[in-house]
Amino acid sequence: MLADSRAAALVAAARDGDARSLARLISQVENGSPELRPVMRAITQYPGHARVVGLTGSPGVGKSTVTAALVRAYRAIALRVAVLAVDPTSPFTGGALLGDRVRMQDHAVDRGVFIRSMASRGHLGGLAVAAPQALRILDAAGFDVICVETVGVGQAEVEIASLADTTLVITAPGMGDSIQAAKAGILEIADIFVVNKSDRPGAQEVVRDLRNMLAMARQVEGAWKPPIVSASATTGDGIDELAGRLDQHWDWLAESGEREQRRLARAREEVSAIAVAEVRRQIGALPGQSRLDDLAAQVANGKLDPYSAADDLIGTNNSDGP
Ligand code: GDP
Repeated sequence: MLADSRAAALVAAARDGDARSLARLISQVENGSPELRPVMRAITQYPGHARVVGLTGSPGVGKSTVTAALVRAYRAIALRVAVLAVDPTSPFTGGALLGDRVRMQDHAVDRGVFIRSMASRGHLGGLAVAAPQALRILDAAGFDVICVETVGVGQAEVEIASLADTTLVITAPGMGDSIQAAKAGILEIADIFVVNKSDRPGAQEVVRDLRNMLAMARQVEGAWKPPIVSASATTGDGIDELAGRLDQHWDWLAESGEREQRRLARAREEVSAIAVAEVRRQIGALPGQSRLDDLAAQVANGKLDPYSAADDLIGTNNSDGP
């Protein structure tokens, strides 16, 4: 098939280090392009070895600066690094992400670094489908490390973080965000805590608060105990220690069998999200599809109950009800 050979050529070019081909593939993911089917087929023959590091935390804590410092550390040992900045909240902002890219400029001409921000513009399954697909593509392109940086602290972000092999939860003094973070469930997803801006007053207190919070958490035998790393990303202090902790966690993932578990869970979510999006499309249940609009109007007017409307959409007649 023509689509298959075109996709194979694009994937091959991306694997050869052609940044434009890689950028085109990520755009296809963003737009939910029909070309993704042949692309994903072509990619299955290139299982990569990338380690996915998620970076999360409130705006301003220094995610981009920590990412840039990690990129520098990994480049120093000749690893190829991709940075994917994901905005789960809005497909339109991009302001902060643009800033990220400007700050990453010192890597702009380095072929061993690929930096890209991504929203899920046209994608039916949203980021639940788009983010894993982008990771698949970067993995197949041969990167050693993929940093996934998310904006904001919220549920969507927790989901994105669940894609990572190792999740860094970044905090900083003066942000007053520890309660917000706890609420959003962000503490549970941390494999490593980074207290950034440790050059600023109040950093010790943040470390102490985190330590207290961790001490109250339930200890599970054999489980990973998230370390707390103090860092100052602007000067590079603590970044070597952070890289060391990342290595430790990567090794622990392999030894404990958790690496396989996480990959399996990720694939499960990905397949399920694609299937759900496809079913919604097929039965006409996407916003803007006239069948859904018709039924919604009847439900809104009290002419039809929502279960009957849903049964109608699926094409079943489930008289037993829920
Ligand atoms: P993000 O929104 O989480 O990506 O945060 P940024 O990386 O954009 O950083 C926000 C601001 O904090 C920027 O002005 C950075 O220069 C500054 N910053 C980042 N890391 C440090 C640090 O370790 N110490 C200090 N003093 N400032 C930092």
